[in-house]
Amino acid sequence: MDKKKNIAILGATGSIGTQALEVIRANKNIFSVEVLTGSSNADLLIKQAIEFNPNTIVISDENKYHYVKDALKEYDIKVFAGKKAIVDVVKMDNIDMVLAAIVGYAGLESTLSAIEAGKQIALANKETLVVAGDIVTALAKEKGVNIYPVDSEHSAIFQCLVGEFHNPIEKIYLTASGGPFRGKDRDFLATINKEQALKHPNWEMGAKITIDSATLMNKGLEVIEAKWLFALRPEQINVIVHPQSIVHSIVQFSDGSMKAQMGLPDMKLPIQYALSYPERINSNFTRFDFLNYPELTFQPADTKTFRNLALAFDALNKGGNAACVLNAANEIAVMAFLNDQIRFLEMTDLIEKCLEKITFIKKPSYLDYVETDKETRRLAHEFLTNRIKFVTKK
Ligand code: NAD
Ligand code: MG
Repeated sequence: MDKKKNIAILGATGSIGTQALEVIRANKNIFSVEVLTGSSNADLLIKQAIEFNPNTIVISDENKYHYVKDALKEYDIKVFAGKKAIVDVVKMDNIDMVLAAIVGYAGLESTLSAIEAGKQIALANKETLVVAGDIVTALAKEKGVNIYPVDSEHSAIFQCLVGEFHNPIEKIYLTASGGPFRGKDRDFLATINKEQALKHPNWEMGAKITIDSATLMNKGLEVIEAKWLFALRPEQINVIVHPQSIVHSIVQFSDGSMKAQMGLPDMKLPIQYALSYPERINSNFTRFDFLNYPELTFQPADTKTFRNLALAFDALNKGGNAACVLNAANEIAVMAFLNDQIRFLEMTDLIEKCLEKITFIKKPSYLDYVETDKETRRLAHEFLTNRIKFVTKK
């Protein structure tokens, strides 16, 4: 690369954001940091700003503006606060690529703004595609923007497709570790607490995606993400449980040939590939050793026990605003579980109730999605306050 690639990292203080900065730290001759944003961890954002010397940082929690501004007064770094500022700064001329690593629906507006401004996108924030995949992909096409997947499964599919972009995909298999409760039944799931759910066997991630992995909603969101990234029909998307998380996903082509991408579970690899595509750059990431993994195993996903995955497939098949409802209800459910307001299995009940009640819109506009998100959250909160109305189904 002749010129350094200037990166904006939205959600720099999170799990993906900090790992992206590790990648950049090891490749300072290739990448430079133009923008960093964080929501509440002001001290980490300040520390990152001092190390990476971006042009601009944004702290979305406005109460922390003066604290951050003060800490950086000796530095030539612009400081802004508030959610609107994130939507604005992504348009800055100097940015080549935006890494969208905010968690949840909160990442949608800034990602759309970056696409509108013609910035290449490295996408970790899968909820953006789950909520409004049609609008996001249509805008990217119109603006000539590529969306490079950061999610390990989608990065795997993307890597398998290099050199094959004109060859039709027959199907894809998204691999799932199965999470910490693989093989358990619903009686067991009814008893578990958040500490157990927050312990993922193979990946260290933010709290929301860790709970999503325990319920298999993460895989459900990824199925919908895959539809939009690779223009697939629902019946082309399969999930296969692979507890070792070594095969990151598989593409099957029209001649029956299958390609898989493999490696140890380490998000730095897909993050780096999204930032450096089409090149592969050297890394010192630990290499896979077959002798440590004498067996790689595969089994079907248990959608009867992990009903969130079935709900996500239903939403995918239904289309319209169904996945937007699924996502908003899930965000509230996960938050309620993390706040000890509901039990593990009640998360699914809450999502199902919202899917039943919210008005279906077949061809939503952007504003319809915004409204659907708002209305679903309102309804979910109502269900939570009248918790008696829904009973955990065993
Ligand atoms: P995280 O909770 O560790 O970090 C989230 C980041 O977003 C933080 O920087 C936080 O400050 C910021 N943020 C949170 N709420 C915000 C708001 N309302 N407005 C502005 N900023 C806000 O999450 P994570 O694990 O890094 O995940 C980020 C995204 O990447 C998610 O969409 C997740 O599904 C996806 N992803 C993560 C992993 C992983 O290994 N962590 C893997 C694949 C995909
Ligand atoms: Mg993933």
